[in-house]
Amino acid sequence: MREPTDEDYKWATEDWDKNRELHELLGLCWHEFSLGVAEYQYCIHCKKMSVYDFHANPDYAADPRLVLREMMKRADCCDFLLRANVLAGKHTMIGDLIHIDYMIEDTGKLRDAAIEWLKKEAADG
Ligand SMILES: [Zn+2]
Repeated sequence: MREPTDEDYKWATEDWDKNRELHELLGLCWHEFSLGVAEYQYCIHCKKMSVYDFHANPDYAADPRLVLREMMKRADCCDFLLRANVLAGKHTMIGDLIHIDYMIEDTGKLRDAAIEWLKKEAADG
């Protein structure tokens, strides 16, 4: 197994930055912990999540179902899915279908589509 390169770290950081971006666009707390002080073993923002809860923040790239789970809670979910399918080259008039590419890839394709959608919705008011 090769040693991680600077490029690997850069990619991993950018990828988690995007996970965080989506999470915050969804209005959810990206849990952060200040280690070393007993009272800060809980999230410094929401105080709900303990540092001992592994995987406190979701990896939307590795598991696109997490993107769907959150987006399905929104009233504009069907519009998002229609748009995401267009981006994937799959034109459909059915708003509750998702292109299979989004489910089998772990590159963050669906996450990135959700970020684009949520930013556009926020900009359009
Ligand atoms: Zn939190």
